[in-house]
Amino acid sequence: MKAVRIHEHGGVDKLRYEEAENPRISSPNEVIVKLRAASVNHIDIWVRLGATGIAIPMPHILGGDGAGVIFEVGGEVSNVRPGDAVCLYLFSGCGQCEFCLSHRDFMCVYVRALGERLDGTYAEYVRLPAENCFPIPAGMSFAEAAAFPLVFVTVWRMLITNARLKPGETILIIGIGGGVAGAALQVAKKIGANVIVTSGSDEKLELAKKYGAAHTINHREKDFAQEVRALTGNRGVDVVLDCVAGEVWQKSLAALARGGRLVTCGATAGGSPETDLTPIFTKHLQIFGSTLGSRDEFRHLLSFMAVAEIKPIIDQVFPLSEAAAAQRRIEEAKQFGKIVLQISD
Ligand SMILES: [Zn+2]
Repeated sequence: MKAVRIHEHGGVDKLRYEEAENPRISSPNEVIVKLRAASVNHIDIWVRLGATGIAIPMPHILGGDGAGVIFEVGGEVSNVRPGDAVCLYLFSGCGQCEFCLSHRDFMCVYVRALGERLDGTYAEYVRLPAENCFPIPAGMSFAEAAAFPLVFVTVWRMLITNARLKPGETILIIGIGGGVAGAALQVAKKIGANVIVTSGSDEKLELAKKYGAAHTINHREKDFAQEVRALTGNRGVDVVLDCVAGEVWQKSLAALARGGRLVTCGATAGGSPETDLTPIFTKHLQIFGSTLGSRDEFRHLLSFMAVAEIKPIIDQVFPLSEAAAAQRRIEEAKQFGKIVLQISD
């Protein structure tokens, strides 16, 4: 089969579109999926760079997100059949630790993700546990079904499970543009929250308005904490989604109302921000660290996406052979929404 692999860590020039061996079923609970689309996430880039600290056997196929058709099933598989169109939940646990035994295998110490410890979805075929295959929500294309899993399950856990964002509340999303921020905008808007977004790009702010942001702030031109205060009658927002941290962190705390909740799933501008603890206790703030999400949250998310008729925002579609150009677009932060790799028959 054709696949995009790395033989060593490094820049986008290390991505090789080449012939690779087809995956084979190795346990009766596994399936082989013939992929029709994959999508690009930051994690793919960190794996390529060797920044995850995880030793992986080379050559390695990148990619955590994908959608396609069930090609082959193991002897004990009963939830899917060959020919079923499926989207993929990308994490598997050890099945034995305290987290796996309490259905939180995404928190497993030995968690394995497609494209990270396991061969991924930048390929014509991928092997994974059958329990990680779910029917594609009605009306979604393969490209859309490959674009949403990782970012939307991450957002679902952050906003709904952790921050418990409610209709009518106000959320501030820092740095609109990437997959997670875009998904957060869509989910928050759909549940009836008031959404404020920031970006350094006026073009991205315009697009955010199109997708339902009530207010936009260019954080290069204005102090967003002050702007938020002005927009909310000096009250502040109920929830801040900050995956940027660095110098932004203090402002995110300042933008929160009393009893506000801050969720973080990344620190692209620096992981050791200066923190004044005073507002955390005087304003009764809650801070949630969050990454990924459980299989059960994924199942819940699928129902929500079908009922709410949400489709992920797709920035651009590249053929699989142009994975390097696709990753470069993310590294340069040019995208608004998700970047998809089309995998032909
Ligand atoms: Zn485990």
